Amino acid sequence: MRNFIIFGPPGAGKGTQAQKIANEFNLHHLSTGALLREEVSRQTEIGQRVQKIMDQGGLVDDSIVDAIVKNKITQDGQVAGFIFDGYPRTINQAENLDALLAAKALPLILNLEVEEKELIKRLKLRGQESGRSDDNEETIKNRLHVYSEQTRPLLDFYARQKRLISVNGQGTIEEVFQLLQDQIK
Ligand code: AMP
Repeated sequence: MRNFIIFGPPGAGKGTQAQKIANEFNLHHLSTGALLREEVSRQTEIGQRVQKIMDQGGLVDDSIVDAIVKNKITQDGQVAGFIFDGYPRTINQAENLDALLAAKALPLILNLEVEEKELIKRLKLRGQESGRSDDNEETIKNRLHVYSEQTRPLLDFYARQKRLISVNGQGTIEEVFQLLQDQIK
């Protein structure tokens, strides 16, 4: 089993690249954001609990996302591997994921580096095109702030364990995908 985490700030291109990597390497793409949006649109109990936090760009409780990820890993345990997208976002989540995968294969981190100015440009464009409710100016600022405070510290956590690979995420989709493939092969 081979596992990866696509990592980076909101707007770095994680979802797009995760999908391409999943197809190319026959991995299961696990996006906690997509799974949570599904809960919201189905108006499940979890969906109702997380909707407001997501609309504000805050982080959903570790216990909720950890449970979602655990379910998926248990259900789909026979796959060749996972690419996690948008998870982990806190040190607690990172430790939880390592515990879940320890017996299989600890994930490598593929970090997309993109400047803040470019991130804001991309997120605003995505808001206009896809209508994602959290891609508006105020929420974008909050998500970038939450990323810096709570998620970016994970880079040190993984670098210390020599599990971190960083690539320039500012090129075209195909350019970035090529850089990632060169690292994975
Ligand atoms: P994303 O699609 O990854 O940008 O996630 C959209 C929103 O879902 C985030 O702004 C959070 O509110 C929530 N979310 C997704 N993944 C997580 C996670 N691992 N931990 C906490 N909240 C999350």
